[in-house]
Amino acid sequence: MRLCRYNDNRIGIVRGGAVHDVTAIVDELPAQRYPLALGDPLIARLGTLRPKLEKLADQAKPVPVAAVRLLSPVANPSKIIGTPVNYHAHRLEADKDKEIAVYSPSTRARPIEEQGLFLKAISALVGPAEGVAVRFPDRRTDHEAELGLVIGKRAANVSEAEALDYVAGYAIALDMVVRGSEDRSFRKSIDTYAVLGPWLVTVDEVGDSSKLTFSLKVNGEIRQASNTSLMVMNIPRQIAWASTFYTLLPGDIIMTGTCEGVARVVPGDTMTLEFERIGRMEVPVRGA
Ligand code: MN
Repeated sequence: MRLCRYNDNRIGIVRGGAVHDVTAIVDELPAQRYPLALGDPLIARLGTLRPKLEKLADQAKPVPVAAVRLLSPVANPSKIIGTPVNYHAHRLEADKDKEIAVYSPSTRARPIEEQGLFLKAISALVGPAEGVAVRFPDRRTDHEAELGLVIGKRAANVSEAEALDYVAGYAIALDMVVRGSEDRSFRKSIDTYAVLGPWLVTVDEVGDSSKLTFSLKVNGEIRQASNTSLMVMNIPRQIAWASTFYTLLPGDIIMTGTCEGVARVVPGDTMTLEFERIGRMEVPVRGA
């Protein structure tokens, strides 16, 4: 199943090249009173609501994907977790290009286990149609194409062996960043610097996420191309490790690291990302 959010917060199921409006599913979610519970209530119930979602989709009139404005498929994550330098070739380019990791030259060659994961502010999250608004145009804003993983149920201290049971699905992620010397989370939390889309593909439809080819083009020119099989730290280990530091909640996003080829974008550019078994999305770049 492919779940999307689009236009004015409508919920859709994508089949082929068409979106089926299933927004009525929101009526099945519990009413919330202050203080609001953390975590995404729709993602938390994706399994149990699936028959109803499919039925609503059957009854809806399909609209071409190209005719809608795609938002982030997850509306309310409690956190966005980033995995640093998780592809060997990206680590090599970061060692060569001093601008990529000027914040801490001494940590560049250290393993992920020593660097730790990092967090991006959830206020940075957008969908592909919203695009990336470049802040500080005199500084370098880079693209980082990554596999985005969405947690489906509460996970605390889970083992690597059971880690994949806690995944709801996958989406394409862009971990945008302003290069510089400040703390990484500061430079990666700018509004619009976390893109998720074009939809969430449930685990059953993705199958094995450890061998997906992916690419990112800017204005049609290939910049990044790799395969998730080249990750340094695999997905089960990322989930298990993250869950020893913080409880993962439904809707939480892990951006699993980027491959080599990170480079600058400027207002007017268009990024096109493709991920095997997930899809393709175009993300415009504009000024802030
Ligand atoms: Mn990244």
